[in-house]
Amino acid sequence: MNMNQLSEGKFDIREEIRLIPKVMYVVAALAFVGMQALFLLVAFRHDPHAPPFPVQVLIATLMGILLGILMLLVGYVNRDAKRRGMNYKLWTVLVLFIPNAIGYIIYFVVRQPIRGACPQCGATVNPGFNFCPKCKFLLHPACPQCHRAIEVGAVFCPYCSAELKGQG
Ligand SMILES: [Zn+2]
Ligand SMILES: [Zn+2]
Repeated sequence: MNMNQLSEGKFDIREEIRLIPKVMYVVAALAFVGMQALFLLVAFRHDPHAPPFPVQVLIATLMGILLGILMLLVGYVNRDAKRRGMNYKLWTVLVLFIPNAIGYIIYFVVRQPIRGACPQCGATVNPGFNFCPKCKFLLHPACPQCHRAIEVGAVFCPYCSAELKGQG
């Protein structure tokens, strides 16, 4: 069992940021510099209606920061999708190529919960599992009649009133 599994469930922004691969910081910095060059040396230079130079610098800086953040997010989605057991290669490509950051929005809506570990045998289990696939440990007690998740020790199912003897 590693630290990722121990801390699952709690959202810690520092832990999330630590997921971003170091190489993506280099890519983000290059993207920032590239944006400066693109705007200041190419786009504005050949535009007769270009805004005054300080405004050019402001626009180039903001676009550079935006692109840099998007690059860091690509790295984050890549690692985050991997730890969630999702198709991380597909998601990395999707967030990169779907325009206007729509890929990120879709990702954060549909992403799977972080995988946990079975308390009994340590096998990797999805949060939706009711039983551990390796050792049949009851991960989430469920009503035998309506199969909804119930609290440990409940006597009656709060959803369908089935009697729950010997469940908790
Ligand atoms: Zn198990
Ligand atoms: Zn029930």
